[in-house]
Amino acid sequence: NSFMDLHLSRPLLRACEALGYTKPTPIQAACIPLALTGRDICGSAITGSGKTAAFALPTLERLLFRPKHRPAIRVLILTPTRELAVQIHSMIGKLAQFVTDIRCCLVLGGLSVKAQEASLRSMPDIVVATPGRIIDHLRNSMSIDLDDLAVLILDEADRLLELGFDAEIRELVRLCPKRRQTMLFSATMTEQVDELIKLLLNKPLRLAA
Ligand code: AMP
Repeated sequence: NSFMDLHLSRPLLRACEALGYTKPTPIQAACIPLALTGRDICGSAITGSGKTAAFALPTLERLLFRPKHRPAIRVLILTPTRELAVQIHSMIGKLAQFVTDIRCCLVLGGLSVKAQEASLRSMPDIVVATPGRIIDHLRNSMSIDLDDLAVLILDEADRLLELGFDAEIRELVRLCPKRRQTMLFSATMTEQVDELIKLLLNKPLRLAA
């Protein structure tokens, strides 16, 4: 029961060590090996369970080993709120601190649209976004291209739906490649969340940690 058993590479193990993580939390122990296989995953997980690292570590690992053909967005993380987006962005920065050449950008309501256009045009590897603002970018400009997306992550799916983002999520997913890995996390598994799982995920493995 150590990070060493999870088949993560050195720079990611070093980051866990630097963050003082001595062993994986239950959701990390369950999620990381499965996510590394590329399968779709849905899990009930609450904040505080370590779920951010549970999806971020295998995602970073995949980026490390899949050389890019061209600069492009390869990971999109959708979250219901600005606060959560900021936390995830900061966590990814810490987990990727020993990885060179991975860029992660925030796309949020309330930040300057111009500045976000510029950072999107520079083709970050990972985008952490609230659905409303990223849809604005997709509708109003050409600054987002999701053709090379490899991983789509929905965090706090129940709250995304409670906040009325269902249509935005469906619109976004239509722009993502069909062949991708999708991970969805939710504190509660409601009927509406289940519908979303059926729509977005392909033979998902279900985790309960
Ligand atoms: P999260 O549930 O992703 O919001 O994480 C909650 C907190 O747990 C964050 O402050 C993380 O830095 C911390 N954390 C995540 N994984 C571990 C771990 N394996 N050991 C100790 N702390 C952790």
